[in-house]
Amino acid sequence: MTDSEKEIRHSESRSLGANGVSVGINNISKSYGKIPVLKSIRLNIAPGEFLTMLGPSGSGKTTLLMVIAGFVRPDNGSLEIGNVEAIRLPPHKRNVGMVFQSYALFPHMDVFSNVAFPLSIRRVANEETRRRVEVALAQVRLSGYAQRRIDQLSGGQRQRVALARAVVFGPRILLMDEPLSALDKKLREEMQIEIRQIHQDLGMTTIYVTHDQREALTMSDRIAVMDQGTIVQVDTPSALYRMPQNRFVAEFVGESTLLPVSVCQRGSDVSFAGQRLKIAKHNITKPSPHSTLLIRPEHVRIARRVTGEGGTDTNCFAGTVSHKLFQGDQLLLRVTLAGGQDVLVREAATHAAAGNSLEVGEKVSLLLDREDSILVPGSGL
Ligand code: ADP
Ligand code: MG
Repeated sequence: MTDSEKEIRHSESRSLGANGVSVGINNISKSYGKIPVLKSIRLNIAPGEFLTMLGPSGSGKTTLLMVIAGFVRPDNGSLEIGNVEAIRLPPHKRNVGMVFQSYALFPHMDVFSNVAFPLSIRRVANEETRRRVEVALAQVRLSGYAQRRIDQLSGGQRQRVALARAVVFGPRILLMDEPLSALDKKLREEMQIEIRQIHQDLGMTTIYVTHDQREALTMSDRIAVMDQGTIVQVDTPSALYRMPQNRFVAEFVGESTLLPVSVCQRGSDVSFAGQRLKIAKHNITKPSPHSTLLIRPEHVRIARRVTGEGGTDTNCFAGTVSHKLFQGDQLLLRVTLAGGQDVLVREAATHAAAGNSLEVGEKVSLLLDREDSILVPGSGL
């Protein structure tokens, strides 16, 4: 970025984006025919927050975004934007900017005309339009590209044009529906940082949709996980990863091994395959007789078979190495327990890593600290 771009970015950004407004979603439901797509969705989003809707394909993310934008009318419920009831407002009165996966730009027109489009609809004067387009292009680091045609730009540049067009009229809310899914991995990761930076500069409330859990963990202030038309958990990225409230979240966010356990005496006595487990109290959300032990691959230490139970603060599981993969920076091992359950283990691939010297077929012990032993309600499958 040049110095003048930086200057524009900092001096103009606040007036361009204004500050974000709150969004209140109350009991929003929507069915298509007899099929419910959104089921009593409730969610409050704070002014200026970066909130991500994360869920598999078909879980209702786009529909919810379209309800907020005003393109889909829900069957029930209310929507407040900046504490004003918005359900009857047409899209252009909601002051919402949008970016989609497919850029939806005019390919035969130049960058300037694409970014200026929302201003021409709003009948903004020419001089003011030129000024605002210049600011918006600086925001997305495309100063000097105004005369380029869209079909002369790379995928990443096109997505930046789409972003500039979404913010050029100073919306209070920015909605983004899988904006990076058409880009390759490296570019996607660069754009994730860039979008976060633009969000910080402009301060508008951002609702971001993705099915990529890693992207959600990287970018968000909070994540709302969706499954089949409901929000199953809303939390910060670290809380969501650390303490999933159910099996769906445990499996969808991050890598995991889930072991069925039996729980008696209101959660104080948890056992797996006849062995009593040590679990930190704060790692038990909801004591339930049907629960699952969540093991993250980076929490397990692997050792040549030791006897005993691993000390007072550590759980110890006996097993056999059934798979070993070298992945450059990491070793990925699969260890099969006596009962047939597979546990994934990740180790940094240092010279000293225990997994380095282990071969498939060797008997090992897996060590898991009580602080890293997490109990998730529901036995599931
Ligand atoms: P996501 O964005 O999470 O992939 P969508 O909101 O696009 O999910 O879709 C949720 C469900 O609603 C899907 O089963 C989809 O087929 C259905 N759906 C979405 N839009 C329509 C529509 N206009 N008519 C009928 N069914 C729809
Ligand atoms: Mg979608």
